[in-house]
Amino acid sequence: MRIFVAGIATETNSFSPIFVGLDDFKASLYAAPYQHPKTPTLCTAALVQLRKRVGEDGITLIEGTTCWADPGGLVSKQCYETLRDEILKQVKDAIKHEPLDGVILCLHGAMMAQGYDDPEGDLIHKIRILVGDETVIGASLDPHSHLTPKRFEFANLLCAFKEFPHTDFEQTGEQIVDLVIRTIKGEINPKMAQYDCKMIDVFPSSHQPMRQFVDEMIKAEQQVDILNLSLIHGFMAGDSPWMGTKMIAVHNGNMDQAQNLAKEFGEKIIEIRGQSMPETVTENVAVEMAFDLTANNKRPIVIADVWDNPGGGVAGDGTIILQSLLNHKAINTGIKISIGTIWDPIAVKLCFKAGEGALIPLRFGAKSAPFTGQPIDRLVRVKVLNAAASQTFGKSHVPMGASALIEFDGLQVILNSTRAQAFEPSLFEDMGINPSSQDILVIKSTNHFYASFRQISDQIIYCDAGKPYPNEPQNTAYIKAPKNIWPINKNPWSKPKFVKQLGVENV
Ligand SMILES: [Zn+2]
Repeated sequence: MRIFVAGIATETNSFSPIFVGLDDFKASLYAAPYQHPKTPTLCTAALVQLRKRVGEDGITLIEGTTCWADPGGLVSKQCYETLRDEILKQVKDAIKHEPLDGVILCLHGAMMAQGYDDPEGDLIHKIRILVGDETVIGASLDPHSHLTPKRFEFANLLCAFKEFPHTDFEQTGEQIVDLVIRTIKGEINPKMAQYDCKMIDVFPSSHQPMRQFVDEMIKAEQQVDILNLSLIHGFMAGDSPWMGTKMIAVHNGNMDQAQNLAKEFGEKIIEIRGQSMPETVTENVAVEMAFDLTANNKRPIVIADVWDNPGGGVAGDGTIILQSLLNHKAINTGIKISIGTIWDPIAVKLCFKAGEGALIPLRFGAKSAPFTGQPIDRLVRVKVLNAAASQTFGKSHVPMGASALIEFDGLQVILNSTRAQAFEPSLFEDMGINPSSQDILVIKSTNHFYASFRQISDQIIYCDAGKPYPNEPQNTAYIKAPKNIWPINKNPWSKPKFVKQLGVENV
């Protein structure tokens, strides 16, 4: 059994000014064939799982290129085509003498590139043309993606993470590998259906009512013929013609059952729209709450800057919460505050030139996009320099690039040069800070941080600061995205009302 694995993964915020090129893939993850590390990354867990299956059932694994860039703006045409053509050539080489039984693609699913609204669909389609109809094609996806007709038509199996934070990325990798292998062996006959929920929302599974929904999906999958249930949450910062929430169901052998399941779970999601995102407060309220809570000895208090989240493709260099802290009367009174991170590669370079221990005038932050505050000018102490800082996310390692820890006004800020959202407290540890010893931690992440930071803090404040991210679909200037979805349309599900035409004789 010959299986080929490869993947191009990133998440495109089409409103972000941070263009993505080959260097961004190389800064985050670019693994040539057989060069992928032993540990999985968020979108490449299927490759690591496949390696474990080599030898079983006579499986031969052919590894292609796998890569991941931290979310940003549009991917350049040249970058996407270079990576795609590299993988297509690897597929052609692999089928030169013998066909492939399976192809597994490690995708994210929300990539958009110059001239390509659906690059993943393009990749799957072109691979399908090469390998033919008999080869089983499966892909793992992030739920913050776009379910397009092309990828649905040309892949046999699509599996998305169920959890948000995506703590189940390894299980999803295992699941897609298992389903593809069982399909090749003829043990199962997957029938995949989808249901368009005609809506877009944010669904953290760490909170109700989404927790129950995910638990219900997991429970349903224990039934022998329900092979997979995946909710595509959708990605509201991607102005894609297919943006929106969609439910995928895969049944063993029965398309009607798959369609019924997709509809059943899709309708459940429609019912909980608008209720799943934890309540947010403004930056001044968040800072006031945090200082009040430190007075009550509850620490560390975590303030999550939920929309200036590089994981959503923005720069992650906003200074709005930092400025609010600097304006507060309790600043510089011995309360320990650490901020991780603010992206500013130029400021990091200046810190490296000055060296550890130097006291330097520095301007940093808020340089990349409007509505993210103003750059901060301060005399800062360069405390720690780390040429290759990183954090963990489960078993994966997330690079933060060359990073500098600076100190001023009684607080500490980590400046990084490879954009990365806050996944785990290890981001502080890697820069010499014990996060548990701090009174207030400020991080940039919508919800991926939650599982791990919850373990060191019971006080998490979700803060809505500035407008770096298009988080209100009804007010976002979409050009390509569908308009007939909630909340842009308050009721896209209603059947068109029958308007009785009055004939002349009735007038
Ligand atoms: Zn995601």
